[in-house]
Amino acid sequence: MPDPGSPPGSDPGAGGPVRTCVGCRRRAAVSELLRVVGVAGELVPDHRRRLPGRGAWLHPDRRCLDEAERRRAFGRALRQPGLLDTSRVRALVDPVPGPGAGDAGRGPSRSTAAEPRTTESRSTSREHPVNQP
Ligand SMILES: [Zn+2]
Repeated sequence: MPDPGSPPGSDPGAGGPVRTCVGCRRRAAVSELLRVVGVAGELVPDHRRRLPGRGAWLHPDRRCLDEAERRRAFGRALRQPGLLDTSRVRALVDPVPGPGAGDAGRGPSRSTAAEPRTTESRSTSREHPVNQP
């Protein structure tokens, strides 16, 4: 997979610390990665890399997030049991979630709403015969 973000010749190991993306498992400089931490079962992006606790490193890429989510890599990396809510990180790496994102298997739903509906308005008003004495 080509990486358009890094110019050719740049050595990630020379510029500083290197971490492994939990999504694609590739090593990259921390400046290219997003640190995420788990806070109360929620995956929170840590832009300043200052939040305490264990952190996981992820490319700010939706595919890496999908991959990490699929393998439940966050729970392992952050030592948090159960599933983490990744909505905040997802909103960050995927700002415009299309309406068809996730369920691409849905076919075009053809609705025949133009069909005239026969409303039987049958007035069942029973007229009581007025019995006049
Ligand atoms: Zn990655």
